[in-house]
Amino acid sequence: MFLRPTTLHDATHALAAGGQVLAGGTDFFPALGSRPANGTIIDVSRIAELRGIRVALDHIRVGGATTWSEIASAPLPRCFNALRSAAREVGAVQVQNRGTIAGNLCNASPAADGVPPLLILDAEVELASAAGLRRLPLREFIVGNRKTQRRPDEILSAVILPLNLCDASSAFLTLGARRYLVISISMVATLLSGNRDGLVGTARIAVGACSAIAQRLPELERDLVGRPLGRELSTIVAARHLAPLSPIDDLRATAAYRRDATLTLIRRAIHSCAEALT
Ligand SMILES: Cc1cc2nc3c(=O)[nH]c(=O)nc-3n(C[C@H](O)[C@H](O)[C@H](O)COP(=O)(O)OP(=O)(O)OC[C@H]3O[C@@H](n4cnc5c(N)ncnc54)[C@H](O)[C@@H]3O)c2cc1C
Repeated sequence: MFLRPTTLHDATHALAAGGQVLAGGTDFFPALGSRPANGTIIDVSRIAELRGIRVALDHIRVGGATTWSEIASAPLPRCFNALRSAAREVGAVQVQNRGTIAGNLCNASPAADGVPPLLILDAEVELASAAGLRRLPLREFIVGNRKTQRRPDEILSAVILPLNLCDASSAFLTLGARRYLVISISMVATLLSGNRDGLVGTARIAVGACSAIAQRLPELERDLVGRPLGRELSTIVAARHLAPLSPIDDLRATAAYRRDATLTLIRRAIHSCAEALT
């Protein structure tokens, strides 16, 4: 059965009876391969409550079925630059026009472009079911390679982004074997804010595609705070800061290459954030 509800209420009540959620289908259909889809499919792409970006006093709410194209073109504060850059890296324009933020998070690929820029924004996910709503920090939502805390009866209805660091600068850099339509070897999102003395006030660094779940680098974040926002800032980054990562050898790159490339990406991203603040 194929259902296309137009309200979240109808979608959650349909899902309570069992079924699979479909949004843009850009992960869903490739994962099926040549198998036909079984059971009830609930297409959430026509639910107005799940679409679009709403700005409130202290947060931004991105509906789960908001596409990457919508995010890329949204007039968002500077601290969201990394997220908008990542939106432009998801496949090509056709994929960005269909693929959604919730689909990217629920698919939970270690190389999902959406995760590192959302981790540096301290994103939370909102999950809706017939029983009500609950919220979880994104860092707790994804628990492994293609594993999340989403219960089978839940729809990821929104991503909530706090608006406490609007003036911070952020950057997203990714490395693949070619420019587009490629699974990343490494990806890095960085966010820096400065204080009146020209020193780093807040630093947040996240790395994807180098562990089963994208990771923040807390030791590096601590080491950056209080340092001058100048050209030398990126030289602080050292191999020991990558301790939370566990890159693998695969056909795209060796683990050693991934570590090396990640150090370079982090240094470049920090440099670009620092330049934007000075
Ligand atoms: C050619 C191609 C290139 C790609 N390139 C990239 C890339 O560069 N970077 C990248 O990160 N990804 C890439 N992708 C993967 C994909 O486009 C993204 O992950 C996209 O964001 C998935 O969103 P979707 O709406 O299409 O999800 P769908 O395919 O509809 O769903 C994906 C999964 O999430 C579940 N789901 C979807 N929405 C919800 C919801 N609201 N609540 C609960 N569960 C939900 C589905 O049940 C399914 O399990 C690519 C895909 C293709 C086909």
